[in-house]
Amino acid sequence: MSHPIIEFSKTPSEHHVQELFEQAKAIQARAYAPYSHFLVGAAILSPSGNIYVGCNVENAAYPVGNCAEASAIAAMIAGGEKEILALVTICDSAEVGTCCGGCRQRVREFAKSDTAIYACGPGGVRAIFTMEQLLPTSFGPDNLVGFVS
Ligand SMILES: [Zn+2]
Repeated sequence: MSHPIIEFSKTPSEHHVQELFEQAKAIQARAYAPYSHFLVGAAILSPSGNIYVGCNVENAAYPVGNCAEASAIAAMIAGGEKEILALVTICDSAEVGTCCGGCRQRVREFAKSDTAIYACGPGGVRAIFTMEQLLPTSFGPDNLVGFVS
């Protein structure tokens, strides 16, 4: 299965992508995944240039566990920012691993349709997607304009 390489209007620099990858990989090692043993790391680049990281946090009550993307978003919000300029995720699966369905919606809340999402493995970037590709024709904050004050 091939995955597209996209040209973005606001492509993060090569330096930023490498830094995001390294930070995602470092936080992946801290994941708490005693049940699945599937360690995931995520790193968000904000427009200010800050990077927010997160890892998955499992729980004996399985559904209560947190994905890495959710953890990174929580760190971003705690850091006072609300926009995802780029997202890197890393996992050790044999095939390309992308955000789960729930996280696609979580990321959508803070991303634009052309926000770059890099799916990485241990050696680096495996595939690049836009938000629109991962969650087409999605529902987001813009859909609530006029309904919620
Ligand atoms: Zn998820």
